[in-house]
Amino acid sequence: MVDEQKTTIFQLIQRNNIKLNLAQFIELCPRISPRLFTIASSNIKSPQQVEIADSLLIDDLSDGTQKIGLCSQYFLNIQQRLLQGESVKVRVDFRESSFKLPDDPNKSIIMIGPGTGIAPFIGFLQEREIFLQNQAQKQNEYILYFGCKHENGDFIYKDQLREFQRRKIIDKFYTAFSRDQEKKIYVQDLLKHNSEELFNQIINDKVVIYICGSTNMGNSVQHLIKEILIKYSNWSEHEAEERIQNMQKQKFLIKELW
Ligand SMILES: Cc1cc2nc3c(=O)[nH]c(=O)nc-3n(C[C@H](O)[C@H](O)[C@H](O)COP(=O)(O)OP(=O)(O)OC[C@H]3O[C@@H](n4cnc5c(N)ncnc54)[C@H](O)[C@@H]3O)c2cc1C
Repeated sequence: MVDEQKTTIFQLIQRNNIKLNLAQFIELCPRISPRLFTIASSNIKSPQQVEIADSLLIDDLSDGTQKIGLCSQYFLNIQQRLLQGESVKVRVDFRESSFKLPDDPNKSIIMIGPGTGIAPFIGFLQEREIFLQNQAQKQNEYILYFGCKHENGDFIYKDQLREFQRRKIIDKFYTAFSRDQEKKIYVQDLLKHNSEELFNQIINDKVVIYICGSTNMGNSVQHLIKEILIKYSNWSEHEAEERIQNMQKQKFLIKELW
Protein backbone atom coordinates (compact mmCIF):
# COMPACT_ATOMS: atom_id res chain seq x y z
CA MET A 1 0.00 0.00 0.00
CA VAL A 2 1.31 3.45 -0.88
CA ASP A 3 0.53 5.67 2.05
CA GLU A 4 2.93 8.50 1.34
CA GLN A 5 1.83 11.20 -1.07
CA LYS A 6 4.13 12.32 -3.87
CA THR A 7 5.93 9.00 -4.20
CA THR A 8 7.19 8.55 -7.72
CA ILE A 9 7.02 5.31 -9.68
CA PHE A 10 10.80 5.21 -9.66
CA GLN A 11 10.90 5.48 -5.85
CA LEU A 12 8.31 2.70 -5.53
CA ILE A 13 10.32 0.38 -7.73
CA GLN A 14 13.54 1.17 -5.88
CA ARG A 15 12.10 0.80 -2.39
CA ASN A 16 10.34 -2.46 -3.12
CA ASN A 17 13.24 -3.89 -5.09
CA ILE A 18 10.97 -4.61 -8.06
CA LYS A 19 12.75 -6.03 -11.08
CA LEU A 20 11.62 -4.64 -14.43
CA ASN A 21 13.23 -4.49 -17.81
CA LEU A 22 13.40 -1.15 -19.62
CA ALA A 23 10.40 -1.86 -21.85
CA GLN A 24 8.23 -2.74 -18.84
CA PHE A 25 9.41 0.36 -17.00
CA ILE A 26 8.66 2.66 -19.93
CA GLU A 27 5.22 1.10 -20.31
CA LEU A 28 4.51 1.94 -16.66
CA CYS A 29 5.58 5.58 -16.91
CA PRO A 30 2.73 8.02 -17.39
CA ARG A 31 3.05 10.46 -20.26
CA ILE A 32 4.19 13.88 -19.13
CA SER A 33 1.13 16.08 -19.21
CA PRO A 34 1.33 19.62 -20.53
CA ARG A 35 1.48 22.39 -17.92
CA LEU A 36 -0.81 25.32 -18.45
CA PHE A 37 0.19 28.94 -17.83
CA THR A 38 -1.93 32.04 -17.97
CA ILE A 39 -0.68 34.67 -20.36
CA ALA A 40 0.54 37.71 -18.46
CA SER A 41 0.73 40.20 -21.31
CA SER A 42 -1.63 41.86 -23.73
CA ASN A 43 -1.47 40.86 -27.39
CA ILE A 44 -2.48 44.41 -28.26
CA LYS A 45 0.52 45.85 -26.42
CA SER A 46 2.98 43.09 -27.37
CA PRO A 47 1.70 41.17 -30.40
CA GLN A 48 5.06 39.41 -30.93
CA GLN A 49 5.69 38.42 -27.35
CA VAL A 50 3.99 36.30 -24.71
CA GLU A 51 4.82 36.60 -21.02
CA ILE A 52 4.00 34.22 -18.21
CA ALA A 53 4.46 34.41 -14.43
CA ASP A 54 5.68 31.10 -13.06
CA SER A 55 6.09 30.24 -9.41
CA LEU A 56 8.67 27.63 -8.49
CA LEU A 57 6.91 24.63 -6.98
CA ILE A 58 8.92 23.16 -4.09
CA ASP A 59 7.49 20.33 -1.99
CA ASP A 60 8.92 19.51 1.42
CA LEU A 61 8.87 15.73 1.66
CA SER A 62 8.46 13.72 4.84
CA ASP A 63 12.07 12.45 4.64
CA GLY A 64 13.32 16.05 4.96
CA THR A 65 14.24 16.41 1.29
CA GLN A 66 12.67 18.78 -1.21
CA LYS A 67 11.16 18.03 -4.58
CA ILE A 68 10.98 20.67 -7.27
CA GLY A 69 8.08 20.44 -9.73
CA LEU A 70 8.95 19.07 -13.16
CA CYS A 71 8.06 22.13 -15.21
CA SER A 72 9.35 24.44 -12.46
CA GLN A 73 12.71 22.69 -12.68
CA TYR A 74 12.63 23.00 -16.46
CA PHE A 75 11.94 26.74 -16.28
CA LEU A 76 14.69 27.16 -13.71
CA ASN A 77 17.16 25.48 -16.08
CA ILE A 78 15.98 27.65 -18.96
CA GLN A 79 16.40 30.78 -16.86
CA GLN A 80 19.96 29.82 -15.97
CA ARG A 81 20.80 29.13 -19.61
CA LEU A 82 19.29 32.45 -20.70
CA LEU A 83 21.29 34.27 -18.03
CA GLN A 84 24.42 32.69 -19.47
CA GLY A 85 23.57 34.24 -22.84
CA GLU A 86 22.24 31.08 -24.51
CA SER A 87 19.14 31.24 -26.65
CA VAL A 88 16.62 28.54 -25.84
CA LYS A 89 13.83 27.04 -27.91
CA VAL A 90 10.72 25.93 -26.01
CA ARG A 91 7.76 24.05 -27.43
CA VAL A 92 4.51 25.80 -26.58
CA ASP A 93 0.92 25.43 -27.58
CA PHE A 94 -1.97 27.83 -27.08
CA ARG A 95 -5.40 27.13 -25.71
CA GLU A 96 -8.54 29.19 -25.78
CA SER A 97 -9.09 30.85 -22.40
CA SER A 98 -12.26 32.08 -20.75
CA PHE A 99 -10.24 34.95 -19.31
CA LYS A 100 -11.15 37.79 -21.63
CA LEU A 101 -12.18 41.34 -20.92
CA PRO A 102 -15.95 41.99 -21.19
CA ASP A 103 -17.26 42.74 -24.69
CA ASP A 104 -18.45 46.09 -23.37
CA PRO A 105 -15.19 47.98 -22.72
CA ASN A 106 -17.02 50.30 -20.31
CA LYS A 107 -18.00 47.56 -17.90
CA SER A 108 -16.35 47.58 -14.48
CA ILE A 109 -14.31 44.61 -13.38
CA ILE A 110 -13.07 43.16 -10.11
CA MET A 111 -9.81 41.22 -10.44
CA ILE A 112 -8.91 38.82 -7.63
CA GLY A 113 -5.46 37.40 -8.22
CA PRO A 114 -3.08 36.64 -5.36
CA GLY A 115 0.37 35.26 -6.15
CA THR A 116 0.85 34.21 -9.76
CA GLY A 117 -2.93 34.61 -10.08
CA ILE A 118 -2.05 38.21 -10.94
CA ALA A 119 -0.83 37.01 -14.38
CA PRO A 120 -3.90 37.64 -16.58
CA PHE A 121 -4.60 40.97 -14.93
CA ILE A 122 -1.27 42.39 -16.05
CA GLY A 123 -2.49 41.84 -19.61
CA PHE A 124 -5.90 43.35 -18.76
CA LEU A 125 -4.25 46.44 -17.30
CA GLN A 126 -1.93 46.87 -20.27
CA GLU A 127 -5.01 46.73 -22.48
CA ARG A 128 -6.88 49.25 -20.37
CA GLU A 129 -3.91 51.59 -20.51
CA ILE A 130 -4.14 51.59 -24.31
CA PHE A 131 -7.94 51.93 -24.26
CA LEU A 132 -7.86 54.92 -21.89
CA GLN A 133 -5.45 56.81 -24.13
CA ASN A 134 -8.31 57.31 -26.61
CA GLN A 135 -11.02 57.86 -24.03
CA ALA A 136 -11.98 61.36 -22.90
CA GLN A 137 -13.57 60.18 -19.67
CA LYS A 138 -13.53 56.93 -17.75
CA GLN A 139 -16.86 55.10 -17.70
CA ASN A 140 -15.94 52.23 -15.41
CA GLU A 141 -13.78 51.03 -12.56
CA TYR A 142 -10.97 48.48 -12.46
CA ILE A 143 -10.64 47.05 -8.97
CA LEU A 144 -7.73 44.78 -8.05
CA TYR A 145 -7.28 42.46 -5.07
CA PHE A 146 -3.76 41.09 -4.74
CA GLY A 147 -2.09 39.11 -1.99
CA CYS A 148 1.21 37.46 -1.18
CA LYS A 149 3.29 36.67 1.90
CA HIS A 150 5.43 39.79 2.19
CA GLU A 151 5.22 43.22 0.60
CA ASN A 152 9.00 43.21 0.34
CA GLY A 153 9.43 39.64 -0.80
CA ASP A 154 7.08 37.87 -3.17
CA PHE A 155 5.09 40.90 -4.39
CA ILE A 156 5.53 40.17 -8.11
CA TYR A 157 4.95 43.04 -10.58
CA LYS A 158 5.12 45.42 -7.60
CA ASP A 159 6.56 48.43 -9.45
CA GLN A 160 4.36 47.89 -12.49
CA LEU A 161 1.20 47.59 -10.37
CA ARG A 162 2.04 50.65 -8.24
CA GLU A 163 2.62 52.58 -11.46
CA PHE A 164 -0.75 51.41 -12.85
CA GLN A 165 -2.29 52.59 -9.59
CA ARG A 166 -0.53 55.97 -9.68
CA ARG A 167 -1.71 56.57 -13.26
CA LYS A 168 -5.26 55.44 -12.33
CA ILE A 169 -5.23 52.47 -14.70
CA ILE A 170 -6.21 50.64 -11.50
CA ASP A 171 -8.93 52.60 -9.68
CA LYS A 172 -8.92 50.66 -6.42
CA PHE A 173 -6.02 48.47 -5.35
CA TYR A 174 -6.43 46.28 -2.26
CA THR A 175 -3.42 44.31 -1.01
CA ALA A 176 -3.12 41.57 1.60
CA PHE A 177 0.37 40.66 2.80
CA SER A 178 -0.41 37.61 4.85
CA ARG A 179 2.82 37.35 6.87
CA ASP A 180 3.66 41.03 7.37
CA GLN A 181 1.74 41.19 10.66
CA GLU A 182 0.84 38.80 13.44
CA LYS A 183 -2.67 38.06 12.19
CA LYS A 184 -2.65 36.64 8.68
CA ILE A 185 -4.63 38.63 6.12
CA TYR A 186 -5.80 37.21 2.82
CA VAL A 187 -7.69 38.67 -0.15
CA GLN A 188 -10.84 37.04 1.27
CA ASP A 189 -10.53 39.31 4.35
CA LEU A 190 -10.33 42.39 2.15
CA LEU A 191 -13.37 41.28 0.15
CA LYS A 192 -15.24 40.66 3.39
CA HIS A 193 -14.38 44.16 4.53
CA ASN A 194 -15.86 45.57 1.28
CA SER A 195 -18.79 43.15 1.29
CA GLU A 196 -21.64 45.69 1.10
CA GLU A 197 -20.10 47.43 -1.89
CA LEU A 198 -19.45 44.06 -3.50
CA PHE A 199 -23.04 42.99 -2.95
CA ASN A 200 -24.40 46.15 -4.61
CA GLN A 201 -22.12 45.70 -7.59
CA ILE A 202 -23.15 42.06 -8.01
CA ILE A 203 -26.85 42.64 -7.56
CA ASN A 204 -26.96 45.42 -10.14
CA ASP A 205 -24.98 43.34 -12.65
CA LYS A 206 -22.47 46.16 -12.60
CA VAL A 207 -19.24 44.18 -12.53
CA VAL A 208 -17.56 41.15 -13.95
CA ILE A 209 -15.61 39.31 -11.25
CA TYR A 210 -12.46 37.45 -12.29
CA ILE A 211 -10.72 35.04 -9.91
CA CYS A 212 -7.32 33.60 -10.76
CA GLY A 213 -4.89 31.53 -8.70
CA SER A 214 -5.03 28.56 -6.36
CA THR A 215 -8.14 26.38 -6.27
CA ASN A 216 -8.36 26.74 -2.47
CA MET A 217 -8.34 30.51 -2.70
CA GLY A 218 -10.88 30.51 -5.55
CA ASN A 219 -13.28 28.18 -3.73
CA SER A 220 -12.97 30.24 -0.59
CA VAL A 221 -13.72 33.48 -2.48
CA GLN A 222 -16.72 31.89 -4.17
CA HIS A 223 -17.98 30.68 -0.79
CA LEU A 224 -17.55 34.19 0.57
CA ILE A 225 -19.55 35.66 -2.33
CA LYS A 226 -22.36 33.24 -1.46
CA GLU A 227 -22.25 34.33 2.19
CA ILE A 228 -22.35 37.99 1.17
CA LEU A 229 -25.37 37.36 -1.09
CA ILE A 230 -27.18 35.63 1.78
CA LYS A 231 -26.26 38.33 4.28
CA TYR A 232 -27.49 41.34 2.30
CA SER A 233 -30.53 39.76 0.61
CA ASN A 234 -33.26 37.50 1.94
CA TRP A 235 -32.10 34.61 -0.19
CA SER A 236 -31.75 31.07 1.03
CA GLU A 237 -28.47 29.26 0.54
CA HIS A 238 -29.99 27.49 -2.47
CA GLU A 239 -31.03 30.80 -4.08
CA ALA A 240 -27.59 32.30 -3.50
CA GLU A 241 -26.02 29.21 -5.03
CA GLU A 242 -28.31 29.54 -8.07
CA ARG A 243 -27.37 33.19 -8.45
CA ILE A 244 -23.68 32.27 -8.47
CA GLN A 245 -24.28 29.59 -11.09
CA ASN A 246 -26.13 32.14 -13.23
CA MET A 247 -23.29 34.62 -12.78
CA GLN A 248 -20.93 31.98 -14.13
CA LYS A 249 -23.22 31.09 -17.04
CA GLN A 250 -23.65 34.75 -18.01
CA LYS A 251 -19.92 35.41 -17.56
CA PHE A 252 -20.27 37.74 -14.62
CA LEU A 253 -18.05 35.41 -12.61
CA ILE A 254 -15.04 33.93 -14.40
CA LYS A 255 -12.46 31.70 -12.74
CA GLU A 256 -9.12 30.22 -13.70
CA LEU A 257 -7.87 28.07 -10.84
CA TRP A 258 -5.19 25.45 -10.38
C1 LIG B 1 -5.55 26.84 -16.29
C2 LIG B 1 -4.24 26.87 -15.53
C3 LIG B 1 -3.48 28.01 -15.49
C4 LIG B 1 -2.28 28.04 -14.79
N1 LIG B 1 -1.55 29.19 -14.75
C5 LIG B 1 -0.39 29.24 -14.04
C6 LIG B 1 0.37 30.45 -13.98
O1 LIG B 1 0.05 31.46 -14.59
N2 LIG B 1 1.51 30.45 -13.22
C7 LIG B 1 1.92 29.33 -12.53
O2 LIG B 1 2.96 29.42 -11.84
N3 LIG B 1 1.22 28.18 -12.58
C8 LIG B 1 0.07 28.11 -13.32
N4 LIG B 1 -0.62 26.93 -13.37
C9 LIG B 1 -0.05 25.74 -12.72
C10 LIG B 1 0.99 25.08 -13.67
O3 LIG B 1 0.33 24.57 -14.83
C11 LIG B 1 1.73 23.91 -13.02
O4 LIG B 1 0.80 23.01 -12.47
C12 LIG B 1 2.67 24.34 -11.94
O5 LIG B 1 3.63 25.21 -12.51
C13 LIG B 1 3.43 23.16 -11.34
O6 LIG B 1 4.00 22.40 -12.36
P1 LIG B 1 5.32 21.57 -12.11
O7 LIG B 1 5.57 20.73 -13.32
O8 LIG B 1 6.43 22.48 -11.68
O9 LIG B 1 4.96 20.66 -10.87
P2 LIG B 1 4.62 19.08 -10.93
O10 LIG B 1 5.85 18.29 -11.16
O11 LIG B 1 3.49 18.87 -11.88
O12 LIG B 1 4.13 18.85 -9.47
C14 LIG B 1 2.82 19.29 -9.06
C15 LIG B 1 2.45 18.53 -7.80
O13 LIG B 1 2.26 17.16 -8.07
C16 LIG B 1 3.13 16.38 -7.29
N5 LIG B 1 3.65 15.28 -8.11
C17 LIG B 1 4.34 15.39 -9.25
N6 LIG B 1 4.66 14.19 -9.74
C18 LIG B 1 4.15 13.27 -8.88
C19 LIG B 1 4.15 11.85 -8.83
N7 LIG B 1 4.73 11.11 -9.75
N8 LIG B 1 3.52 11.23 -7.83
C20 LIG B 1 2.94 11.96 -6.87
N9 LIG B 1 2.91 13.31 -6.86
C21 LIG B 1 3.51 13.96 -7.85
C22 LIG B 1 4.25 17.32 -6.89
O14 LIG B 1 4.90 16.91 -5.71
C23 LIG B 1 3.52 18.62 -6.73
O15 LIG B 1 2.92 18.75 -5.48
C24 LIG B 1 -1.82 26.88 -14.09
C25 LIG B 1 -2.60 25.73 -14.13
C26 LIG B 1 -3.79 25.71 -14.83
C27 LIG B 1 -4.59 24.44 -14.85
